[in-house]
Amino acid sequence: MRIWKRMTAAVALLSLLGCAPEQQQQPTATAEPAKTYQWKMVTTWPKNFPGLGVAPERFAEKVATMSAGRLTVKVYGAGDLVPAFEVFDTVSQGTAQMGHSAAYYWKGKVPAAQVFTTIPFGMNAQQMNGWLNQGGGLELWQELYAPFGLIPMPGGNTGVQMGGWFNKEINTLEDLDGLKMRMPGLGGEVLSRLGGVPVTLPGGELFTALQTGAIDATEWVGPYNDLAFGLHKAAKFYYYPGWHEPGTALEFIINEQAFKGLPADLQAIVTTAAQAVNQEMLDEYTSRNIEALRSLVEDHGVQIKPWPPEVLASLQQAADEVLAEQAEKDPAMKKALDAYQQFAQGVRGYHAISENSYDQLYR
Ligand code: CA
Repeated sequence: MRIWKRMTAAVALLSLLGCAPEQQQQPTATAEPAKTYQWKMVTTWPKNFPGLGVAPERFAEKVATMSAGRLTVKVYGAGDLVPAFEVFDTVSQGTAQMGHSAAYYWKGKVPAAQVFTTIPFGMNAQQMNGWLNQGGGLELWQELYAPFGLIPMPGGNTGVQMGGWFNKEINTLEDLDGLKMRMPGLGGEVLSRLGGVPVTLPGGELFTALQTGAIDATEWVGPYNDLAFGLHKAAKFYYYPGWHEPGTALEFIINEQAFKGLPADLQAIVTTAAQAVNQEMLDEYTSRNIEALRSLVEDHGVQIKPWPPEVLASLQQAADEVLAEQAEKDPAMKKALDAYQQFAQGVRGYHAISENSYDQLYR
């Protein structure tokens, strides 16, 4: 009772002074408008390219809506602000606050980054998302990028890719000998082990390179993306599966200082928008590849071919050797690969009796 009396007296006093508690809680007329942030996002894809290039646009839309315009992100296609393969350095230096790309493009600078995209004969999209988001993978990725002032976030997944476009059939290992093929990341290392000549080119240059004979073969993504680039006009044999990219994770990279400069609610909006886009991209590929594959086969006469089992077996053996050698050369690679393989082994054991066992019902 005594406390109540004191409070009543205090309110009365404040009223006399012309500042009742109710008035104190209201925003004053001179309050500053909410601070706004304008970010730039550089990407490795042609602007608005299906799947890969749509993801950064969707991220920007979500962030603008969720933040009521307090954070806006202007998206740049490959070459608009910087070339496709300068995304990492541009965001690291802070010239752009964020980027959208794939970690395996930075293998020359950070070899272990490749593990956070995909590895030959590695995990599929569902397993990769499980490892990154709930299995400790993302924490290792953050640790790897911290020295560059970058924060990585999963930025979509293509699902199992296709094996690529060839102008000749691949029947034996000899057919890979001297084959100049666009294949990024560890897949390219594996190809070179069997006599192939891997080349890294941005997507926008693939059609011309294949058509002019600058390269003999190329992989890109899968039916939806490959149809968009018209790769079927430059080669007729389309091999499966993409042993070299079984669940390719894309990345959002964010300049650490820029991220830390945001208030907590905008940080949460950025993180949540990235998570949403990560799932949306996989859903888009799952849906759009159906019609694109039909069109490639029925409208364009593309021949769909499985890799010969003995070629796949040699590729898998070469992949094991390449991964073991890379782990031996680089402690960061070893750490990432060990964690990846440990998760992969566990999830495969479970998926053998769940996802894969169920898939067998259709064969
Ligand atoms: Ca690819």
